Amino acid sequence: MLARLLRLADVAFFPSFCRSCGLLLERPGERLLCRDCLGRIVPHRAPRCPVCGRFFEGEGGGHPCGACLGHPPPFSLHRSAGRYGAVLKDAILLLKYRGGRPLARDLAAFAWEALRREDGLWEKAEVLVPVPLHRRRLRERGFNQSALLARAIGRAAGIPVETRALKKVRPTPAQTSLEHGQRRTNVRGAFAVARPERVRGRVVVVIDDVFTTGATLRECAAELRKAGAGEVRAATVAQA
Ligand SMILES: [Zn+2]
Ligand SMILES: [Zn+2]
Repeated sequence: MLARLLRLADVAFFPSFCRSCGLLLERPGERLLCRDCLGRIVPHRAPRCPVCGRFFEGEGGGHPCGACLGHPPPFSLHRSAGRYGAVLKDAILLLKYRGGRPLARDLAAFAWEALRREDGLWEKAEVLVPVPLHRRRLRERGFNQSALLARAIGRAAGIPVETRALKKVRPTPAQTSLEHGQRRTNVRGAFAVARPERVRGRVVVVIDDVFTTGATLRECAAELRKAGAGEVRAATVAQA
């Protein structure tokens, strides 16, 4: 009954047109985006840094990027499933800012399919930890999109999820609103490990929606390592 009411409310709140192409959503199970648009979200297969996963423009690959050579990250490996743009960007923005909660499952399915065969990303992984939101942001949004993604990926991968291992202790302006150089200082000291016993000695994969400069992942991974995590890796749905 409750599920039925929630569904009805959902239908009332979201007019049944695809938010990306504008066509009518008429197939069962379609929410916010039509199946054709979802099908246009594809993995990014171009060369990238073997460590931080940054996509290289044009040729390259096989060697770590300048950032990883200059300042090796506290995570051993990061991979993004796709490039932040077109429908993938629409889907992430809908998820975060338009209450597009149902899209978390589609995005997680996309990310898992794109990254499930990545060498060394999931092997012996023991716990998935989503990048947390500050409690104020969580209250506004009603959910943490990274936690939704982590839960869905965790179900597909058979890896448990710890949504409370990491905590955002300081609210920060959205990374996208800042210049490159400001991003690292913006997130410095913004995260803390709330439950070290959940990560100590374990192989942790941090999950987030978008990778931009990597400052957030570096900060989260550094805290997890300080708390005793055996190894930290990271996976994101999109890379800007
Ligand atoms: Zn569409
Ligand atoms: Zn790199």
